[in-house]
Amino acid sequence: QNPILKVEGLKKYYDIKGGPLGIKVGEVKAVDDVSFSVMEGEILGIVGESGCGKSTTGKSILRLVEPTEGKVVFNDKDITNLNNNEMRKLRRDMQIIFQDPYASLNPRHTVEKIIGEPLLVHGMKSAKERIERIRELLEVVGLSPYHAKRYPHQFSGGQRQRIGIARALANNPKLVICDEPVSALDVSIQSQILNLMEKLKDEFNLTYIFIAHDLSVVKHISDRIGVMYLGRMVELTNKDSLYDNPKHPYTQALLSAVPLPDPDLRRDRIILKGDVPSPANPPSGCAFHTRCPYASDICKEVRPEFKSVEDNHFVACHLYG
Ligand code: SF4
Ligand code: MG
Repeated sequence: QNPILKVEGLKKYYDIKGGPLGIKVGEVKAVDDVSFSVMEGEILGIVGESGCGKSTTGKSILRLVEPTEGKVVFNDKDITNLNNNEMRKLRRDMQIIFQDPYASLNPRHTVEKIIGEPLLVHGMKSAKERIERIRELLEVVGLSPYHAKRYPHQFSGGQRQRIGIARALANNPKLVICDEPVSALDVSIQSQILNLMEKLKDEFNLTYIFIAHDLSVVKHISDRIGVMYLGRMVELTNKDSLYDNPKHPYTQALLSAVPLPDPDLRRDRIILKGDVPSPANPPSGCAFHTRCPYASDICKEVRPEFKSVEDNHFVACHLYG
């Protein structure tokens, strides 16, 4: 299996400006030195609380936000320094599905226009061909081809997300970044959309990065899972290792909050002290040290390296190795 995507040392810092002259007074380290690979055909889950940098990581890969530093390699091609034009071409192969199907579809455009636009942009000039493709895509995502003339407000949240998925798949992408695609939906609809996405992945040989704030959402769908905290990846491993053998104290706490049906398997709930610190002022050393039950002196001073501690199991924590 080959990596379809390699992310190395990715950083995205935002300047904080203040005063009447708008002088830089600080920076937010939204993504702070994140590295991982995505294998062709896999679903890599990325999990963390809001503000941990998971969406920014996804958007930086697609260069929807410009990374501050780091390298992104897609299909063995370094795409870090492509210009806008080259990047636009590449977006045929790399797509994103957004969290909010209410905000991400233009309310003044018909479904036909919404799904037709990426087809047109990538060279499908014939209106007839486009309409055929749009109908096909609507069927693929479980909507009626007769819906093509309708507007987003005429659909439910779940149906809108199906439209967002159809738009993302219009040009047969290889990699799809799914940025909390079910978080805005009713729980009853979530599993329908997740099942659809799994089915489409197999049908069209897709690779997903699946971003979520909830471990119970990625549990079902992911092959591997990465956990992020305050702009950093703190653990990354196969789904089963993560659930059976979580190593990072933050992962352990997150997992302890996931309800399990089997009472024998239930873990004691680990309640973390304090809140997530501001990414504008992250703690020194291990960013988790202010909340970690195992923190020691070295944790306050030295940032733990993100390293392999077992086969396919990466952790950034001084407790290991
Ligand atoms: Fe806790 Fe220290 Fe590990 Fe950070 S490095 S998670 S503070 S034990
Ligand atoms: Mg987000």
